Amino acid sequence: MTIRTLHTVHRGDGFHWVGDGFYVTQLLPASPELQRLTDPFLLMDYNPVKEYPPTTTPRGVGVHPHRGFETVTMAFEGAVAHHDSTGAGGVIRPGDVQWMTAASGILHKEYHDPEWAARGGRFHMMQLWVNLPAAHKMDAPGYQPLTAESMGKVKLDDGGVVTLVAGELDDVRGPARTVTPISLWDVQLGADESADLAVPDGHTLMTFVLDGELTTSTGTIGREEMGIFNREGDRLQVTAGEVGARFLVLGGKPIDEPVVFYGPFVMNTMEEIREAMVDFNNGKFGTLV
Ligand code: MN
Repeated sequence: MTIRTLHTVHRGDGFHWVGDGFYVTQLLPASPELQRLTDPFLLMDYNPVKEYPPTTTPRGVGVHPHRGFETVTMAFEGAVAHHDSTGAGGVIRPGDVQWMTAASGILHKEYHDPEWAARGGRFHMMQLWVNLPAAHKMDAPGYQPLTAESMGKVKLDDGGVVTLVAGELDDVRGPARTVTPISLWDVQLGADESADLAVPDGHTLMTFVLDGELTTSTGTIGREEMGIFNREGDRLQVTAGEVGARFLVLGGKPIDEPVVFYGPFVMNTMEEIREAMVDFNNGKFGTLV
């Protein structure tokens, strides 16, 4: 048994608006030097709790394209409506996760659910971009609406609870179908509780703290901080502080291919980025109004 050691604790650099509906701090990409330890995760935008007054004109992001990766949206509070060029759509509510595979190309829009916006209230979200390997970047797009009830649940010996969106722990699996092995877990620990979790040796491993703080044998990860771990080891051991902790575990097999990241497109070469722009301009991503 080898316990994972912490490489870096990373914080977002301030806040910015995505469209007019998402006020986020960006945790990934962390830095070019850290790309190896965060592969296959490309981007993470975290929208901590923000209050919105009631409105009849919902805020959000208008129609835009993606190619070459997946977007994963987790709703903690509030509700996000989504529509895309494959005809898929829906509302992501607290506890739900939307796993959208842009792959060869999709157009979508993301905005506050009109019914929720009419009442207003607390809004709390996270969006993660997960890379696809070269062999699957041009697959057909897809969409998995994962409901709160469908998530895997593991009760820990010490009292904590792990909610699994993707990946496996103690023979329980999360509902998401992934192209490469990915773990996405939401872990809740009570005051001073510990977690000792089996994680694949050699895979990327990060913990993002939503609430409270986490202590490891090699450092402490505070609220809204991302702990980026070294790849060696098959156990993640963490302890919550006196107010408990809630954190996300992001794990995955590194894809280990060149990454060319250009706005909403993530490909392996600049030539493929140019193709994406030409295809988008020629209407090959479909239509969405
Ligand atoms: Mn998008």
